[in-house]
Amino acid sequence: VSTAIAAAQVGVYRPPTVDERGRRVPAWDEDSTTLAVEAARLVVPEDGDLRAVTVVTRSPTYLVDDAPVVITKALRLGDVELTQIHGGGAAALAALAAAATPGVVVAVETEGAVGAAAVFVGSDGARPSVVARHRHSVPYRVRRAAAATASVYDDDRLVRERAWRPAVEALCAGEPAVVTGIPAGAAARLGAAAVPELADGLESSWAALAATARGGRVVAIEGASGVAVECGGNGGAPVATDGREAYPAPAIVPGAPIALSLAAYERAFDAKVGLVAARCACGTTHFPPRVFCPGCGERDRSVSISLSHRAAVYSMATVRVPIPGMPREYSLAVVDVEGSDVRALVHVTGGPAGAVAIGDPGQLVLRRVAEREGVPDYGYAFLRDPA
Ligand SMILES: [Zn+2]
Repeated sequence: VSTAIAAAQVGVYRPPTVDERGRRVPAWDEDSTTLAVEAARLVVPEDGDLRAVTVVTRSPTYLVDDAPVVITKALRLGDVELTQIHGGGAAALAALAAAATPGVVVAVETEGAVGAAAVFVGSDGARPSVVARHRHSVPYRVRRAAAATASVYDDDRLVRERAWRPAVEALCAGEPAVVTGIPAGAAARLGAAAVPELADGLESSWAALAATARGGRVVAIEGASGVAVECGGNGGAPVATDGREAYPAPAIVPGAPIALSLAAYERAFDAKVGLVAARCACGTTHFPPRVFCPGCGERDRSVSISLSHRAAVYSMATVRVPIPGMPREYSLAVVDVEGSDVRALVHVTGGPAGAVAIGDPGQLVLRRVAEREGVPDYGYAFLRDPA
């Protein structure tokens, strides 16, 4: 599900896939980088005039060398400063209060309440300011030997009374506030304002950013510590759904990993991540760009052009041949890219196999199209517009 704020100052993106218990999980072609791009593109100004982008995440796999390059290329931001911060909601609110303007702050979660939110801070508008900090240590998230993921230490009362209650009291200071970073039930019992739109994501870092759209005091708790900000808000609800249906995450075909060709990756990177084609002096546009023009056969007569992200399905097919790392069934589409004569072959994302039809309009979105030897390979997929 892609969700957007009416005022376009705060954007929230949640992946469309759910697990067998109905919880949102990253789709097979999504990771922290694509989630960050999905949220950020909802708020990045049309003219791309930005000084800084800050991405806050707890995902350890995110902090790799090339994530900033992929994000800035995909968002078509030129000389922007991109900072990565390892942290959750409190770090995200602090980054928002400190952001260079005009700037965008993004918070991403790839576990738990999976999703991403982005806030645009203009040069002239009022910005959130930090009004309280609380620091204490009750490290209640434990990772027991047999468990893959962390769980909360099994003394509920200790966690509530020694970690959450003092943090909520210090950070709310008697004011009505939206409290994020702790379970919705606990927040309600400790007197925090209910946020129905965020209920299933309230523990996440992106909820802290999304809540700033409402204005007033927003609190983010991490562990037993936290930050409170006061913000003007944009008068809008924090989350407005675009009506996209969630669907069960498909089974992924296991099998031998495909070898990495770093040379092929490097050669294709700008075109694949930036959605860049080449236009020859003879009038032919080719994507991906080729050394020799397929129209006239000459080389060195082409210039790079940025393609539109809007596209429509020209032809499609559903693949049922098992390919390691891909869903057991998935759809491929040849799409007409708006404003050009480019037809691109891409996979279809955002729904079950076979769910698009010829003529459907949509957009080209950055996805992790493969992973080779641990290196994510990014490109574009077709996402049909919501019905
Ligand atoms: Zn040519």
